[in-house]
Amino acid sequence: MKIAVYPGSFDPITNGHLNIIERTTKIVDKLIVAVAVDSKKSTLFSAQERTDMIKEATKDLENVKVLSFSGLLTDFVRKNKANIIIRGMRAISDFEHESQLALMNKRLAPEIETIFMVTCSTYSYLNSSIVKEIASLNGNISQLVPEIVEKKLNTLFFNKKA
Ligand code: ADP
Repeated sequence: MKIAVYPGSFDPITNGHLNIIERTTKIVDKLIVAVAVDSKKSTLFSAQERTDMIKEATKDLENVKVLSFSGLLTDFVRKNKANIIIRGMRAISDFEHESQLALMNKRLAPEIETIFMVTCSTYSYLNSSIVKEIASLNGNISQLVPEIVEKKLNTLFFNKKA
């Protein structure tokens, strides 16, 4: 059984993440989207909120499970009996950091493979920070994020301005 883990901060999930999730579900038996609780980045949304938004956005995908995790990713992968880590690759600028992570994870857990999914061109410019910035400036983000995220961000920034 092929069980993969797709880790990230997902602050919040975007259509770029969702595209990777949808494509991955077609090549594995089960995909665990793993929301990092103690992300190095300071997050706008709590781990619970980030998890709930992903659950809502992926509710129609049968083989997706959403969990949060803290501690070493490789420990989490092993605990969940998975053997694949999925990461998204947008541009060559992602390569250095991502390959460093993948090599370190390989050293920590040689039985786990990291697989990179190249983003589809529509979302290659997209990341969570840009989405937050556009939303905070009242821009339209409906093509960039799932509906639940659009609602959450608009409410948040509307209330901040009020
Ligand atoms: P992290 O803080 O671990 O980088 P992110 O939530 O920013 O977490 O991203 C999680 C994963 O999703 C990373 O592998 C990242 O490269 C990938 N990713 C982010 N945005 C996109 C996108 N627009 N298209 C494809 N992959 C993406």
